[in-house]
Amino acid sequence: MNINGCTRTCGLIGNPVEHTMSPAIHNTLAEAMGQNLVYVPFHVQTGLVREAVEGAYALNLLGCNVTVPYKSQVIPYLKEIDPLAERIGAVNTLVRVEGGFKGYNTDMPGLARAMEADGVKIAGEKVLILGAGGVARAVAFMLADAASEILIMNRTVEKARKIAEEVNACAGRELAGALSVSDYGKLSKTDRCLAIQATNVGMYPRVDEAVIEDRDFYERIHTGYDLIFNPVRTRFMELTTEAGGRAFNGLKMLLYQGVIAYELWTGVRVTKDMEEQAFRAMKQESTGILL
Ligand code: NAP
Repeated sequence: MNINGCTRTCGLIGNPVEHTMSPAIHNTLAEAMGQNLVYVPFHVQTGLVREAVEGAYALNLLGCNVTVPYKSQVIPYLKEIDPLAERIGAVNTLVRVEGGFKGYNTDMPGLARAMEADGVKIAGEKVLILGAGGVARAVAFMLADAASEILIMNRTVEKARKIAEEVNACAGRELAGALSVSDYGKLSKTDRCLAIQATNVGMYPRVDEAVIEDRDFYERIHTGYDLIFNPVRTRFMELTTEAGGRAFNGLKMLLYQGVIAYELWTGVRVTKDMEEQAFRAMKQESTGILL
């Protein structure tokens, strides 16, 4: 990497940012594409989000990613917001425009691309979402266009109910329902479905945990898609495969949310070969942070 007076900067706003894999994605893409661009993490202290967004603009940054806990907090400080990000209520990518940044959500298109790459279809599927946090909410909205039925299962069932109501209001029909995680025994045993694991349970360092341990639950799912990428093989994935299902982790979602952000910043199309280079760099990086 040759940094000079013309180097453009992109970065990550979050707290913490120390374990991010985004520099591996973006710096690999920039190098592979021969672009004079560098990507760095910015640890933003609580209460300084506005200063971070305005400062990034003042410093002529080309764009930023935004991670926990600022995905909703950045919204008031944007010049514009993309309709999808507005509907989801979370922004993970800032793109420089005249007078400020435009906010996008590339997590959900990233997940859709990752599922497509993994051969997991959504159209016409009955989908279980485990969790009702920020990401689960976004997943529920993403699925609303294609799934035949959505069931949101959460420890705190009120949060799942609230998301289901919002999705139904948006879809104009009774598409989504809610269930407490502890009531999984009420699920039909006849048709197996796709389950998207969107809780924090099983994330490093608590790698021996899954939100549901009972094998009986896993016999009701044909595909388990865990959004966690650290570790790369979660307990949820193990339980899914032990019960005869297919299992995937969140590493490709992370890759594609980055690829889409990079395309938004630079206006270039990332080729398959470059995607693969970035994916290899992520996997290399991940061996350093796993267990
Ligand atoms: P969040 O808003 O904090 O939500 C956390 C969810 O986990 C809530 O539904 C919470 O249930 C549930 N939960 C936490 N501890 C639990 C426990 N002990 N038992 C049962 N449920 C528990 O988190 P988020 O931002 O939505 O992120 C969720 C996951 O998505 C994380 O694992 C993150 O790594 C992953 N993610 C992946 C990508 C990617 O690119 N692959 C991108 C973003 C996020 P309650 O509501 O009952 O507290």
